[in-house]
Amino acid sequence: MSNASKGLTTHPVASTFVDQREQLLLAPYAMHSSDSLGRQHPETEHAYRGPFQRDRDRILHSSAYRRLSGKMQVFTGEMGDYHRTRLTHTQEVATIARTIGRVLGLNEDLIEALALMHDIGHPPYGHAGEDALNECAAEFGGFSHNRYALVIVQELELRYNGFTGLNLTQEVLAGQTSRIDKNKSGLHRLLEVQLVDAADSAAYDAHDTDDAIKLNLVTLDDMSHLELIRSSLEAIRRKHVNLDKGLLRKATVHYLVNQQVTDLVNWNRSQLEERMFSSSTQARDSDFVIGPSPELIEKKKELERFLYERVYRHPRIVRVREAAQSRLKAMYERYRQRPELIPAHYQPRLREIGVSRMAVEYLAGMTDHFCEQTYAKVFID
Ligand code: MG
Repeated sequence: MSNASKGLTTHPVASTFVDQREQLLLAPYAMHSSDSLGRQHPETEHAYRGPFQRDRDRILHSSAYRRLSGKMQVFTGEMGDYHRTRLTHTQEVATIARTIGRVLGLNEDLIEALALMHDIGHPPYGHAGEDALNECAAEFGGFSHNRYALVIVQELELRYNGFTGLNLTQEVLAGQTSRIDKNKSGLHRLLEVQLVDAADSAAYDAHDTDDAIKLNLVTLDDMSHLELIRSSLEAIRRKHVNLDKGLLRKATVHYLVNQQVTDLVNWNRSQLEERMFSSSTQARDSDFVIGPSPELIEKKKELERFLYERVYRHPRIVRVREAAQSRLKAMYERYRQRPELIPAHYQPRLREIGVSRMAVEYLAGMTDHFCEQTYAKVFID
């Protein structure tokens, strides 16, 4: 009997609405909002948005999230505007993770919050930028985009009166913390956290293939011996004849995503059915990890080896990467010598954490384009 027909109010009441919905939709091993450890600074529950939904919205409305549109994933703006940026990569990760999470009965709000946050700490110029800043920061612990993401959401984003940061739930913060060292033993990660990792990998294997072919770094023929591409092409040819080059590339990438998502759904669903976890903590503390099937792991390794050798180390990419790294390192030195070049509103934090750390943080927050513009400015005088 519905609330309305029982004569009760239908206006959703705080956690009751969210709890009832989750009871209906989520598997026992999913993270339920009612089990959340909450936030550092207590807040009253929202009338109809659950805690993880609020986290997702806070991340979505943060300025660091918006800046992802100006940060490269693998390919820079000089190469056109077809390819993925850090923002569109993030959206692809979120949608893949949500699709799988829905079938597995996991908490989609938590999945989305984690996915939108996962790359929020990326500096300009992708991993090349991260490596350069890591060298700059060597004497004070190095730089990691995963750690910097926590600094952003806990210290740099200003949203509330009285404390810094977005006041996210402990589950989202713990999920991001576990990304800092994924090889650390004894990591107890919620299934939702594990799933976002698997979706990240599925997304970049597919879209880096698409972008690399579109940008003429490699051809589809160069890749046709790779098992994942071969099986995609075979499936496409069974369905379509005479696809033009562009449509064939797009269909291949579509199959590449679909093959991976289908594998992740089927493999993990059967594993979870076998294990019959009765709570999120039982699943979290077990040795089970959401990931591709053993067969898909091998196929992905083959594709990733190819991408590493033929795309990520392509001379055109290496050139851009080296130029970006020397630019960042030069700016870092410049800011250390001339801290007054760092904008005035950062000066209080500069006094708090010191000029070297501030220079790294300031550089890490920049978009690719802003970094180039600022580089020109700080070296003019
Ligand atoms: Mg990512």
